Amino acid sequence: MSLPIVTVVAPGSPAARAGLQPGDEVLTLNGQVPRDIIEWRLLIDEAEVDLEIRRGNVELSVEVAKSDGEPMGAEVESALFDRVRTCDNHCEFCFIYQLPKGLRKSLYLKDDDYRLSFLYGNFTTLTRFTEADLERVVDERLSPLHVSIHATDPDIRSRMLRNARGGMSLRWLRALLDHGITVHGQIVVCPGVNDGAVLDDTLAGVLDQSPDLASIACVPLGLSRFNAEAAMREHTMQEANAVVDTVHDWQEMFLRVVGHRMVFAADEYYLMTDRPFPEAVTYAGFDMHEDGIGMARTFAMEFSGEVDTPVGPQSGFFAWVDGAPAAGYRAPRNPAGDTSLRGCSSSGGNVLLRPRASAPVGILTGEFGAKVLRPLIDDLRRDDVRVIAVRNEFFGGNTAVAGLLVGEDLLRALQEEPIGHRYLLPDVCLSEGRFLDGTTVDSLPRSVEVVPTNGIALRRALGAAESMVVTP
Ligand code: SF4
Repeated sequence: MSLPIVTVVAPGSPAARAGLQPGDEVLTLNGQVPRDIIEWRLLIDEAEVDLEIRRGNVELSVEVAKSDGEPMGAEVESALFDRVRTCDNHCEFCFIYQLPKGLRKSLYLKDDDYRLSFLYGNFTTLTRFTEADLERVVDERLSPLHVSIHATDPDIRSRMLRNARGGMSLRWLRALLDHGITVHGQIVVCPGVNDGAVLDDTLAGVLDQSPDLASIACVPLGLSRFNAEAAMREHTMQEANAVVDTVHDWQEMFLRVVGHRMVFAADEYYLMTDRPFPEAVTYAGFDMHEDGIGMARTFAMEFSGEVDTPVGPQSGFFAWVDGAPAAGYRAPRNPAGDTSLRGCSSSGGNVLLRPRASAPVGILTGEFGAKVLRPLIDDLRRDDVRVIAVRNEFFGGNTAVAGLLVGEDLLRALQEEPIGHRYLLPDVCLSEGRFLDGTTVDSLPRSVEVVPTNGIALRRALGAAESMVVTP
């Protein structure tokens, strides 16, 4: 158990008036030891908040007076103060097992914690869920939650999770739904394991047992070159097409029976099969946007000016582990501002080189991102803007999404690109300023402008270079 540590006290806030300071460790809040940011928020909602704190070696009492529901004005360091609940599954498709050795420790953490599901949209299998957890979720209305389904057949689910409790744990899904908790489901489709007839059976199982689920995302198995599971392989084109067909067929069925489409195929499937993305209206509010469902469609809408606010956050892979301030993963990834210019001089120092605003622009992205962006850029009819598809050799396998781009691959790609051009980089591949391989933009051989990963920000970066914020 670690203690909540105050990181920010807003000037003039009730916490500031009471004398709370950054660095204070909170021992108790109204006599209770908060386990996580959820309890913290509930406790600080009171009109009077009594804190026992430790400042250096001294323990102090701080009384914060405020009105009921008024923000206290203090932020703390992390979201969970007790231990994160780790997962006891050993899924053959787990991407964490496919990471290379030597990355930062936090990336290897396999969590299966309903609190992270609520706070960050992480998927939980419910194999470690308990009656007490259910009680808390219901009492505190921790909704929505995100649950990994994979298969409704108990034997297949247990086999996929390599956990005997895998089959039975979906009973918690029913219990959550019975208590009115909104649940989004996910199926990681592994060819030869839970596609084909098994996928049909799973969606029939959902219709039969959990028709009150909010939605289900079908995402393809992600493979890196470090995969050691012989049974795990990429989809063939035929298999990927079959998944899309199955999803479309079941959408019709769900629409007829429960009144909404329920199941969606990840954007990656449309990119793999070169099929057009479904119309925006079919995504019904883009509930699963951050799971890669409808992102390409929303990006196009944002880029073309059809919408004037970004549709949803782009959390990126492993977003919560390092970049998880208590404010949540929805906190800005690039706190310096909308767009910032970062980079190094060719001599390797930290000198910022600002290319001319009128310089040609290279948009860096993954191979899938390039397939989405190229038609949008072509429509601009600007010969000074190009898309640079960066091959992911670090992870290899079928990794092609922008969120998994690392410094090593960007460095290789940028070395081939001319000096003096502007290079735009989506912020989704950075967490707390670092790529997954631990490097930062300062190690890149060209200055890059880190741009929020949405169409509006990209449009602005292409059109309004003069107004960009430059951060040292
Ligand atoms: S439940 Fe998730 S974290 Fe745990 S082994 Fe399976 S894929 Fe990995």
